[in-house]
Amino acid sequence: MTREDLAGKIAVVTGAARGIGAAIAQRLAAAGATVVVNYRGSEEAALAVVAAIEAAGGKAEALQADVSDAAATEALFKDVLARHGGLDLLVNNAGVAKDGLLVTMRDRDWQRVLDVNLTGLQRCTRLALHHMMQKRSGVIVNLSSIQALRGGRGQANYAAAKAGVVALSRAAALEVADRGVRVNAVLPGFIETDMTAMIQRRAGDEVLARIPAGRFGTPDDVAGLVLFLCSDDAAYITGQALTVDGGMSAQ
Ligand code: NAP
Repeated sequence: MTREDLAGKIAVVTGAARGIGAAIAQRLAAAGATVVVNYRGSEEAALAVVAAIEAAGGKAEALQADVSDAAATEALFKDVLARHGGLDLLVNNAGVAKDGLLVTMRDRDWQRVLDVNLTGLQRCTRLALHHMMQKRSGVIVNLSSIQALRGGRGQANYAAAKAGVVALSRAAALEVADRGVRVNAVLPGFIETDMTAMIQRRAGDEVLARIPAGRFGTPDDVAGLVLFLCSDDAAYITGQALTVDGGMSAQ
């Protein structure tokens, strides 16, 4: 048995139909967790993630909810607790980017990015904490970004939301550490997913030149760190912001 054994744990991964979330769901399930694969619109992809997990001998189910919708998010967590009788791990992965220069940014693009990446994450965290604090155990991992540290031209909304995720994770960790609950933020660099596909097509060489490791990250690079943080190997790690970026932010 490895220390990463998550057998018997119930995990929710938001936005897990594609990209980094799908890889996280598969790694947690491979370590023994029963995984709720949350999705907003990508039902077919979510069902494919569940099928892949089950084919590998794991347990998962897909549940729809838009994490920017308060009522839908409350229903999601109520459903998870009713169906599984508990919640041990929450990975707040759902995220969107709506890039544009700040000077011409539309209010709705600012608001949407904040609503999904920060307010939605905050609500999921709060709903999970109600349960985790009562049973005095639980782990929450929040997907931020290295843009939280560096800014990023055309990403004022995204960078602000992701910096908020780091601050929220630290504050929440302090509030719940003595209840046996850990909260950490993960800051990926440039990971090859749908979210970065256009940038990669337009400026891939330029980005690559700024990655000391000499390659783009994969969803699995991020999933490995998330799995570690969910495991008992990370039992004494809380309130931290950990980068997984091939050295990009060390420059
Ligand atoms: P992606 O490929 O665009 O996938 C985003 C996922 O989030 C999709 O599964 C999508 O679900 C889900 N989602 C979006 N809005 C949602 C909502 N309102 N409610 C529920 N789910 C929602 O993105 P990714 O690259 O895998 O990114 C995953 C996370 O890592 C995000 O938080 C992102 O900001 C962060 N991140 C990514 C990178 C990178 O380089 N890729 C770097 C740093 C941080 P549907 O398809 O069902 O709509």
